[in-house]
Amino acid sequence: MADVIQLLPENVANQIAAGEVVQRPSSVVKELLENAVDAGATQVKLIVRDAGKTLIQVIDNGCGMSETDARMSFERHATSKIRDAKDLFAIKTMGFRGEALASIAAVAQVEMRTRRSIDELGVRLAVEDSTVKIQEACQTPQGTSIAVKNLFYNVPARRNFLKADPVEMRHIMDGFQRVAMANCDVFFNFYQNETEIFHLPAGNLRQRLVKIFGEAANKKLVPVHEETDVLKITGFVGKPDYFKKTRGEQLFFVNKRFIKSNYLHHAVVAAYEDMLPADQHPLYVLFMDIDPSSIDINVHPTKQEIKFDDERLVYNYLKVTVRHALGSHNITPTLDFEQEPAFQSTPTRSSIRPDTGEPRVGDHRPSRSLGDDKRQADNLRNWQRLYEGMGLAVSRIEGEAYEDDATVATPLPEIGVQTSVEVLEMDDVNAQFSKTQKEPYQIHGQYIISHIKSGYFLIDQQSASERILYERYLEALGNQPIAIQKALFPKTIELAPADAALLREILDEVNFLGFEIAEFGGNTFVVHGTPADLGANVQEEILLEKVLAQYKGNLEMELSTSDNLARSMARNASLRRGQILTVQEMAEMIDQLFACSVPFNSPSGRKCFIQYDLEALRKLFD
Ligand code: ADP
Ligand code: MG
Repeated sequence: MADVIQLLPENVANQIAAGEVVQRPSSVVKELLENAVDAGATQVKLIVRDAGKTLIQVIDNGCGMSETDARMSFERHATSKIRDAKDLFAIKTMGFRGEALASIAAVAQVEMRTRRSIDELGVRLAVEDSTVKIQEACQTPQGTSIAVKNLFYNVPARRNFLKADPVEMRHIMDGFQRVAMANCDVFFNFYQNETEIFHLPAGNLRQRLVKIFGEAANKKLVPVHEETDVLKITGFVGKPDYFKKTRGEQLFFVNKRFIKSNYLHHAVVAAYEDMLPADQHPLYVLFMDIDPSSIDINVHPTKQEIKFDDERLVYNYLKVTVRHALGSHNITPTLDFEQEPAFQSTPTRSSIRPDTGEPRVGDHRPSRSLGDDKRQADNLRNWQRLYEGMGLAVSRIEGEAYEDDATVATPLPEIGVQTSVEVLEMDDVNAQFSKTQKEPYQIHGQYIISHIKSGYFLIDQQSASERILYERYLEALGNQPIAIQKALFPKTIELAPADAALLREILDEVNFLGFEIAEFGGNTFVVHGTPADLGANVQEEILLEKVLAQYKGNLEMELSTSDNLARSMARNASLRRGQILTVQEMAEMIDQLFACSVPFNSPSGRKCFIQYDLEALRKLFD
């Protein structure tokens, strides 16, 4: 038999390599932006059409390329950034593998214009299927413009694999924001179709983060700065009350390179100790500068993972640094705790002492020391435990106050125990119940017990409320808009650019849910009205932000806009655990729940109720 092994043609080899580097439009965005930064640009413009599926263009004012370099740049393993193997251990640029442009040109139609300052004329190249189709002199400003068109046009399987536009757009925005954060001294702007969605003038990191996360972030950022011979850590962490439900605003950069690391994430979370509720994540943007020779960035094609020589040292140092930053800005648990409005207005509660013999919270506000911090952290822990025991601490962090103190102090209603003992012999227990005994009642501010003929339902009030609202919102989006409560004074709100872009996209739908929101230009919106049934004192901004965050979090599920929005809104407008209900309210809720088309589960899949049969209960006592 003849020999069978052949070398792959160049374009096929490139396509295979592209599989690793170019996973989706956002990978192209990242590579092009990093090249612009590596080229020393001070101004970088990103233009994206159809979530990058038809066009991704990056225009920079960096060093540009000579004609030969421009042509070379599309070859595999062609890089100006390293020369030999030892350079691999001293990498200061974002790129170095010389693969990006070659990979991109294997799976898209690429057009490049570039000119160095010393050249009068620039060069224009058109590359398709790894082949240069056009190469000619052209007039062009100093710097480089690269347009990537019709990504995966020649790899249908991969093109079909791309997600819906909002999902791809989300990835692109994440990628853009990461590069922008790591390079505050560069002016970036970002056009989605014809709209400028980010405009980020050169500035310091705080300014940049505020532009990206929105004005509200400004007061929530605690600076971090610590430096030793081997490692420097700078950046910001969010105050403990600035949690994020979704992970995504937790970013590490090592030598300006964004990396993912659960291990380091854990270090930061550990620094927050008990300040963090279970399902929430702190915001952080942290930069570590470390001698390039003590890390290996070449462990992953997209370079999002790196290896440290001494990972444990980095872990410990990071934890201590963040802890210190939180401490030195008085963001210690007890201070925060004292300011919690829910607790301020409840004197009875603050006079309950945890049984550790610790001084009362209100009693000590003296100068702080590390020992103090520790004690106060312990103190908070004890308090939390106390309330957790009562099933009441669940919503503390969200700042949801319990309605009044009386409800907290009231002993739990006695759950018909006596009755059942007395009527043990009777056949139809139910018939003996008086009207009040059949009324639903609430336990622990979380569950509702509702009698039915054969036993009772135990209803989870939050899940039930979510289910009811979800179906109502779906109906609203199907053309039965929810009533609007007009505001006396319209309120303008300013959103983070990514949120604003999203809201613009789904604004019509949002307005079906009882909002009356209008675009005001830029990232500003005017709220003329809010859903009537949410009451007058909704905090539009907070509700909207939460709904948008949830919506983004749901994107990966690829739901329809209506479904996603109805879920997100139901989730955030629903009754919470800990909310005390009147008999009337409970009865209404039960009616509404069982009028739902699917009363069994909340849209996120939690059970709404469990049924208990008397027969089964009786057996339990045998
Ligand atoms: P790498 O960045 O790993 O070197 P790339 O394929 O991304 O590999 O780029 C190849 C080379 O093309 C770079 O090393 C650089 O010399 C040149 N290049 C790419 N983009 C630009 C740009 N925007 N401005 C100037 N030179 C660029
Ligand atoms: Mg590169």
